[in-house]
Amino acid sequence: MTNKSKKKREQLMGFLKTARTLKSLNNVQLSKIIDCMEEVKFGNNEVIVQEGTEGDSFYIILKGEVLVTKKVNGQQKVIRKMGEGEHFGELALIREILRTATCTAVGNVTCFSIDKEVFEETIPIDSLELHDEPDLIEDVEKPKNVGLKTSLNLRDLIPVPYQEGRYQGDPVTLGVGGFGRVELVTTLQHRKYFAMKKVSKKHIVAKRQESHILLELRILQAIQCDFIVRLYAAFRDTRYIYMIMEFCSGGEIWTKLKEAGRFEENIAVFVTACVVEAYAYLHKKGILYRDLKPENLMLDYRGYVKLVDFGFAKELSRGEKTYSFCGTPEYMSPEIIQNHGHDFAADFWSLGVLVYELLVGSPPFSSSEPQKIYAKILDGVLNFPPYLGESAKSVISKLCRPRPGQRLGNTKNGIKDVRHHRWFNSINWHKLRMGQLEAPTIRLIRKGPCYINFDILPYDKTKAEEEFSGWDQVF
Ligand code: ATP
Ligand code: MG
Repeated sequence: MTNKSKKKREQLMGFLKTARTLKSLNNVQLSKIIDCMEEVKFGNNEVIVQEGTEGDSFYIILKGEVLVTKKVNGQQKVIRKMGEGEHFGELALIREILRTATCTAVGNVTCFSIDKEVFEETIPIDSLELHDEPDLIEDVEKPKNVGLKTSLNLRDLIPVPYQEGRYQGDPVTLGVGGFGRVELVTTLQHRKYFAMKKVSKKHIVAKRQESHILLELRILQAIQCDFIVRLYAAFRDTRYIYMIMEFCSGGEIWTKLKEAGRFEENIAVFVTACVVEAYAYLHKKGILYRDLKPENLMLDYRGYVKLVDFGFAKELSRGEKTYSFCGTPEYMSPEIIQNHGHDFAADFWSLGVLVYELLVGSPPFSSSEPQKIYAKILDGVLNFPPYLGESAKSVISKLCRPRPGQRLGNTKNGIKDVRHHRWFNSINWHKLRMGQLEAPTIRLIRKGPCYINFDILPYDKTKAEEEFSGWDQVF
């Protein structure tokens, strides 16, 4: 057996040495990489890497063949076939890139893979010589949806009306938040629905929220993640600023939770796993979310969950703390309440609160008065109803540890410890990222007119006052 694994190591070492990006590494470093690599298997026709998605893993083919295709003029064109010992995705380890080709398994395929996070912990990036190879299957980042961004115009947006009922003929309102209204719109040209967040400029100025809205815009513009709502364009006129977003037609998790009372475990696991993926993306980019709650989680048509509402998000470097008192009382961590300074750990606390609320139907620390909620949070006593399983109780307790330094997600291995917790055993994280997991949430989505998964809301006909101070020039 020793001989066999030794041989396998040597073979892997040989494969790694052919990767140009890793050329400058010595044997000890390569050996370390091998230690961190994991075997992954794919079935026939399974997509391993999808063109246009964010790349974060490097693969070596151990067994089988992989077909590389690329979209050219709307058609999938075969570029080449790769076999044993060949590898793909090396640029993903050192740059933020979008995949520029799709790799699909032909028959059963076994790969050896390492993801960016693990790679970064093993090899200091500066020890790598960077090579730009024109024939590598990835490119430097190209903004996605460029077409949409440049071709959307405020005047082309048409409100979508209710087709029946009390408000028949009135524009559909998808949601009303503290600051704005979100309406359903479409265009003749794209034949696609969009969610349009519309906020009164006068109101923003009166509440001194200019910098918040500008930050929300800047953050959303920088984000390209399948677990976060996409922003296609932003506009302004004399009364409002507008953000044109991807329409999440499945509705709010909040609505679904109220309908169901509480979720079955597999639904709660799936919803939380999507949030974990959104967090992994945001935290890696140095963005703190700070507003986790079922109202800010939307379902898309496939039942995948996306974060919306970046009104409280904040850019933060590792090791830095921030002191603003914000969030929703039920979801606030003890260090926010005590004003001790908080960081990424605060997001993991609210993840624990979310898991509890999804499984139980109400948050663990609640009261009609915020002060009482804060007192309960600081006491930190979690009462679990008898129907909660052991692993669920474990993940909640570990995420809701009072000390930020001991919280799951904020310990040595970071978010990986969350992914590896046994409550998530049923999740294949790779497939989730690729959008290849069947979403159990699909059962929650109603079929019918496009607004059927939303509460019916009256249209606000009043016009906001005009505002000309000019703070909104970037819109
Ligand atoms: P808040 O008071 O929570 O800060 P807000 O004014 O910032 O609210 P959002 O939370 O962004 O607004 O949106 C309000 C509501 O509109 C959401 O809770 C949701 O119901 C709906 N909504 C927001 N974005 C979308 C979207 N992309 N697709 C469908 N519905 C959406
Ligand atoms: Mg909101």
